[in-house]
Amino acid sequence: MDNPATPLDEVRANIAKACKASRREPADITLIAVSKTHPVETIEPLLEQGQRVFGENRVQEAQGKWPELRERYPDVELHLIGQLQSNKAEDAVELFDCIHGLDRKSLVKALGKAMEKSGKRVPCFVQVNIGSEEQKGGCDIADLPGLLEQARAADIPVIGLMCIPPADIEPAPFFALLAKLADENGLDQLSMGMSGDYETAVMLGATHVRVGTALFGKRG
Ligand SMILES: *Cc1c(COP(=O)(O)O)cnc(C)c1O
Repeated sequence: MDNPATPLDEVRANIAKACKASRREPADITLIAVSKTHPVETIEPLLEQGQRVFGENRVQEAQGKWPELRERYPDVELHLIGQLQSNKAEDAVELFDCIHGLDRKSLVKALGKAMEKSGKRVPCFVQVNIGSEEQKGGCDIADLPGLLEQARAADIPVIGLMCIPPADIEPAPFFALLAKLADENGLDQLSMGMSGDYETAVMLGATHVRVGTALFGKRG
């Protein structure tokens, strides 16, 4: 008898469907399995199924979980998806392969310094406050060109834009706006889409989707 489909199989199938509908290739989409709050035992089954790209939102939590897992799965790629405090920049550069929350000049400064010191240039996404929400992280749309300029001057490899659209309203217009901003600024990677809306994000050009709940179940 065939094994029943796992959540990972289902998410992959949904991405493939969204790709087909929008004439894209699944190989062009990176599925980031967001393992924040989940212990090593919950993460391992996904590693055993071949998933290699994971996302965490706290430096300290990731430092506790991933060194051990990486010893056993050396080809793991770890993305920092959450807000980053400037005083954790050095730790973040050491541990992560990609940083999604570059959103302010003070952080550009801190990351630039950390990368200079370590000699490791970690690819970054600039997070945009796409819904212009007051409490939300991300740089203002109007500040984006200036921030990109500053990041380039600091030798930070910015590869694309990232957003978290406002909750409880249709995300598609915000994904489309992020794609437009990336295009205007000569960037071709888009980190957008979570458990509730990753198919929509793929159809609107996401290259990286960040999926937690649909893979691991509800966080405690
Ligand atoms: C937690 C988190 C996710 C994953 O959210 P789910 O709804 O569980 O898929 C994606 N992106 C960021 C920035 C997050 O903090």
